[in-house]
Amino acid sequence: MRQGSGVRDGVGKGQISMATVERTLVLLKPDAVARGLAGRIIQRLEDAGLKIVGTKMKQLDAEFTKRHYFDLEERFGSSVYEKTATFMQQGPVLAFAIEGVEAAKNVRRLVGATFPNEAPAGTIRGDFAHVSKAYTDAQHKVIANLVHASGNSEEAKYEIDLWFDASELFEYETLAEKYTF
Ligand code: ADP
Repeated sequence: MRQGSGVRDGVGKGQISMATVERTLVLLKPDAVARGLAGRIIQRLEDAGLKIVGTKMKQLDAEFTKRHYFDLEERFGSSVYEKTATFMQQGPVLAFAIEGVEAAKNVRRLVGATFPNEAPAGTIRGDFAHVSKAYTDAQHKVIANLVHASGNSEEAKYEIDLWFDASELFEYETLAEKYTF
């Protein structure tokens, strides 16, 4: 097992061949951790042949939350930002650096749409939650949608760098890799 440089082409730290193999960030939000769903959610990524190459548990503070969701306020306004930031600090989150072919796009496919009622069955948000934007807005609640996943490869680069030091990322071969990669 090697430490450190394990990021493939286009993702930032280090050099590995195969341009489409990349790393993306997955967060199990406070609701997923508190509901005890961590194993079941991560199992889905592993089942799809995606590989865990870094992990940690973290209690977010206001400053780190802003660095993670740096453009959320600009995109959706301060009310959405404040609700989301408060929610993200309600309890610890589990962070994963996930590696795979077109990992950012593929993980988003497995996670499903932002609002769980719009996420198809078979996706993480569709299977483990069901609430709608209309309901949570009316109740002044947050959308407890379990998971954050980098929006695309560019975002993934920024987010992996934000969440992990090079020494916290690993390169190793899974036994299934002959078939999964
Ligand atoms: P995603 O997490 O699906 O990539 P976005 O990047 O658009 O979604 O938004 C980031 C997070 O901000 C969402 O997962 C959700 O927690 C929160 N959020 C976004 N839009 C809203 C909204 N209209 N109302 C409440 N929360 C929102």
